Parts: sequence; C-alpha cells; structure tokens
Amino acid sequence: MIKIESGAWDVMVSHARQQFPNECCGVMIGSAGDGVKTITRALAMENAYQGGQEDRYEIRPEDLLRADRDARKDGLELIGIFHSHPDCDAYFSQTDLQNSCPWYSFVVLSIKNGEFDHANSFLPNADQTAAEKEELVY
Ligand SMILES: [Zn+2]
Repeated sequence: MIKIESGAWDVMVSHARQQFPNECCGVMIGSAGDGVKTITRALAMENAYQGGQEDRYEIRPEDLLRADRDARKDGLELIGIFHSHPDCDAYFSQTDLQNSCPWYSFVVLSIKNGEFDHANSFLPNADQTAAEKEELVY
C-alpha cells in the first residue's frame, strides 16, 4: 500500500494540472515499512522528453540522482515516480512498462479537461512485462 500525505498530493495534482495537456512527471519521497509506503514529499520535475509530450515523459537521470541523494540526506527514501495521463485513464501503458524500474512505485494521475479525475499506483515486475496494481490512498 502507498499512502500519499496531503502536502505531497497537492504538489502532484497541481503539477499535473499546470502541465496539461502535456504529461507531467516527478518523484515521491518518504519512508517504507510494514508493507506501507508513506509519501511525505513530492518533487515536480521537468518533462525532458524531446518530442510530443502529450503522451510521453522522461525524467533526466541526473535529476533523479539528485532527488535520491537529497532524500537520503534527510533520512528519507525515493519511493517512486509519478506522471500524468492527459485526457486518458490512469493505466500503465506499454511505454510506461518499458521505462519502468521494479524497485519504484509508479503513480499515474488521470487529468481530464485540465482537472484531476482519478489515480492508480503500479508495481512493475523485473522483466518489465507486467505491472501489478498497488493500493493507493491519498
Ligand atoms: Zn504513462
């Protein structure tokens, strides 16, 4: 289960709405234990994908590395990555699967007509062939 605290959730939703009709992306930071991941902080990141961003996103590896380092400095962990699906449901696409890492939770936010609609969290497997849905609380 992944629980996103309201401050972090607000950052995620407002970033997704601001970037509409493009996909937004960012990272989720917090702690994990007893099967529960708690997200206390979310960082909005620039979508670095070179091309149409209405259905693609890319996080620069150096941005990810910096976020990971900063989280550890505060005794926290980089738990996962979030991105938005503009005018599309919050499913885990083939592209999402190809770009996934099995050690992160992937939260997808569906933004319809510029407003938040729903969200899901996914846990991709190591082979990048499937992603299981994870219980999401926000
Ligand atoms: Zn996606």
